Amino acid sequence: MSRERVPFSFELFPPRNAVAAHTLWDTIQQLASVGPEFMSVTYGANGSSRESSLEVLRYILEHTSVLPLAHLTCVGSSHYEANRLVREFLDAGITNFLALRGDPPHGAVEGDQFLGDLGSASELVQLIHRVQTERAQYATLPSRSPAGGGSIPSSRQKVRVAVAAFPNGHPRSKRSNQDIDTLLAKQTSGATVAITQLFFHAEDYLGFVAGARAAGVTIPILPGVMPTTTPTRLERILALTGERRPDELSRRLHASDSLDEQSQIGVAHAVMLSREILAGGAPGLHLYTFNQHQAALSVLEGAGLLAGTDLTSKIQRKEFV
Ligand code: FAD
Repeated sequence: MSRERVPFSFELFPPRNAVAAHTLWDTIQQLASVGPEFMSVTYGANGSSRESSLEVLRYILEHTSVLPLAHLTCVGSSHYEANRLVREFLDAGITNFLALRGDPPHGAVEGDQFLGDLGSASELVQLIHRVQTERAQYATLPSRSPAGGGSIPSSRQKVRVAVAAFPNGHPRSKRSNQDIDTLLAKQTSGATVAITQLFFHAEDYLGFVAGARAAGVTIPILPGVMPTTTPTRLERILALTGERRPDELSRRLHASDSLDEQSQIGVAHAVMLSREILAGGAPGLHLYTFNQHQAALSVLEGAGLLAGTDLTSKIQRKEFV
């Protein structure tokens, strides 16, 4: 009896320099070889630019058979700029997006002055659908060819728009239900899937999904899982996200001096978490890779999602689509 394959996907960020770019192309090939549903590329985080995100997305599009998914943020953009940005990505062949509001630039004062014309991710979801619809209509305008008035063939590409979800609340949420209300608003705007912020405890994700379902959220809520393979990374992530400290993981990472052992500890925690949430009904796994393939692939292998794939030969394989 064949079991249905559990889908998984990866998040990458644009490289910071030429050396990192070279390593990233190899990482992408290693990750692509195990057949993810999509690979997402962050936008604007850590000072990266529109061009650097597009370069990685184009690489995925042209050198692998995996769907690229573009993160887009609307912070600081006028309607015109946001419209042009969406068009540019569609023109590059990108049809899968993660629509985000984005964070205020460093040093920005509290309040919403940094936002620009679009105030929330929901508005960006609507804008992406609107721009795509306009393009599709344009593509099916009657042809004025002298040979006769047929239509220009149109492949009305389906645009899929993901959104962010926060199982433990967005750091700026004012009340516990706000994040479920916000997710519901994003679904109403046309979001087709949600990807969560990372979390360290299975009950955080499972409780959030239960609450979201009770409130009427029906789109898949894909859990974001990160193998935390060094104590430094754990501390940075906790500071950035405000997540609850995973005590046992933290104690073990800080107690070890060996990088290999730390990596094993981080992977083992992510494997345990993945198994628990999959058993609890998670529709798949979205792995935060930090542009490193080995830990992400080890998590998938440990969680039993690469069953039937010869991981060693996949990792070493050099010919790709
Ligand atoms: P929104 O959904 O607009 O929410 C922002 C705040 O406004 C929340 O407090 C929300 O509760 C409130 N809000 C919004 N709409 C409503 C409403 N209708 N009713 C009530 N309250 C509302 N940042 C980057 O810069 N680049 C990236 O590539 C990136 N990738 C990310 C990937 C994932 C999976 C996640 C989880 C986050 C990512 N971020 C990224 C961070 C994200 O941009 C920030 O967390 C940002 O502060 C919020 O973005 P959002 O899309 O959730 O915003």
